[in-house]
Amino acid sequence: MSEDRAPGFATLAVHAGAKPDPTTGARATPIYQTTSYVFNDVDHAASLFGLQAFGNIYTRIMSPTSGVLEERIAALEGGTAGLAVASGHAAQLVVLHALMMPGDEFIASRQLYGGSINQFNHSFKSFGWNVKWADIDDISSFEKAVSPKTKAIFIESIANPGGVVTDIEAVAAVAKRAGVPLIVDNTLATPYLCRPFEWGADIVVHSLTKFIGGHGNSIGGMIVDGGKFNWTASKRYPMLSEPRPEYNDMILGETFGNFAFAIACRVLGLRDLGPAISPFNSFLIITGSETLPLRMQRHSDNAKAVAEYLSKHPKVTWVSYAGLAGDRYYKLGQKYCPKGAGAVLTFGVEGGEAAGISLVSNVKLFSHLANIGDTRSLIIHPWSTTHSQLTAEQRKAAGAGDDVVRLSVGIEDVGDIIADLDQALAAA
Ligand SMILES: *Cc1c(COP(=O)(O)O)cnc(C)c1O
Repeated sequence: MSEDRAPGFATLAVHAGAKPDPTTGARATPIYQTTSYVFNDVDHAASLFGLQAFGNIYTRIMSPTSGVLEERIAALEGGTAGLAVASGHAAQLVVLHALMMPGDEFIASRQLYGGSINQFNHSFKSFGWNVKWADIDDISSFEKAVSPKTKAIFIESIANPGGVVTDIEAVAAVAKRAGVPLIVDNTLATPYLCRPFEWGADIVVHSLTKFIGGHGNSIGGMIVDGGKFNWTASKRYPMLSEPRPEYNDMILGETFGNFAFAIACRVLGLRDLGPAISPFNSFLIITGSETLPLRMQRHSDNAKAVAEYLSKHPKVTWVSYAGLAGDRYYKLGQKYCPKGAGAVLTFGVEGGEAAGISLVSNVKLFSHLANIGDTRSLIIHPWSTTHSQLTAEQRKAAGAGDDVVRLSVGIEDVGDIIADLDQALAAA
């Protein structure tokens, strides 16, 4: 590669963060399946523990296998540093742990993954972290929710399960005025379709479990630091702006500059809360990430064809997919995800709950399960499964009413995908 040429996305997906193993020459990233790493001597150990030097200590805090994954996803997002954790939910926990104190508030869009709504409404409340809900269809609702206790704003780029695209730039402007970071869950879009840092996001989180791993075989999460937020401009983020007694009174936000947030998440959140990813899962997700651009294009192309087919079907009352011309999020989709609107779409089946259940019972190629982002085509009726712990009102607000069927369109031959839906709709 010539020095003056910045590598393209597909090149980064294959190479970023990885090089042949210096000891063995292994070309694929090895699985460093070890809990701990030997110190050169006591001074080396002391400098690692004191954050004076970077190096491996213990796999709860870092692993060379996960390090490749972290560098790769940070490169694909255009961020300064990444931190791999055990799951998407762990990423959300570790991010907010670095920002929030008991009694603080954060603002989240209502249009979120059902599990995130639960996590925010219940478990996070028990830490004294209070969520204020806003609506992406009314950006002023974010502005109205801002208070002196607000520490962050949280949105999804493409929202699960509604086929909804958030106006990231508009929410980023609210966050900037409030002086708080914008966190974007970029799981459904992946950096191939949407790059939130280019629109003003400060932190990106992922469930690697979905499209980045991409094969339905491993749970993982990622935090990416955008490197632009000034953590020491105010006293609002004491984890970053106050001296840390366990690290010789170091101020993380000063010492680590534009990757201080990722460091704080690692040396405070991951160290103390403990949700480390296994090196084996990182290995599988690294392998998945290499084909991300190929898969996301195919997922998006297949999903668009399926959406077009469904929109003409007499038993289908509506289709929500931002890639479909005329969809209410089409324009936002063209702005934020010009290469395609991803794999996930929802539609309404005539006959409501009973018809939805019949449809998921009659598919053959599709798998009926609670996941997205597999190579395989997946189907679910969120009302009776993923969103069933929410109230009827919350389910509707999250785009999971009783007639809603969600698809995660796989990378199989699109003719086979459509034929399967055709026979299942005929039977419904
Ligand atoms: C699945 C998912 C999560 C949670 O990720 P896990 O890896 O299951 O913990 C968070 N956000 C979105 C958008 C998701 O789809």
